[in-house]
Amino acid sequence: MSEYNCNDTLGKVFDFLGHELEEADRTKVLDHLEGCQACKKEYAIESKISKIISSSSIEAQTSFASKLQSRIQSEI
Ligand SMILES: [Zn+2]
Repeated sequence: MSEYNCNDTLGKVFDFLGHELEEADRTKVLDHLEGCQACKKEYAIESKISKIISSSSIEAQTSFASKLQSRIQSEI
């Protein structure tokens, strides 16, 4: 089993956060993050970004839903 280097890990971080990696790849990413401060830092930044993206899309969905609801109510 070959270990990930920094490039491998950073290339996979986004998929890792999106839960799109195979278990074996997830383990390799985690193993590398454990021992590499630089990638750990990058991972923390990426994870914040992906949280912002996912929370803002929920917000967008919510406001779309409430707009739709008020439009439906005004038509009744
Ligand atoms: Zn690294």
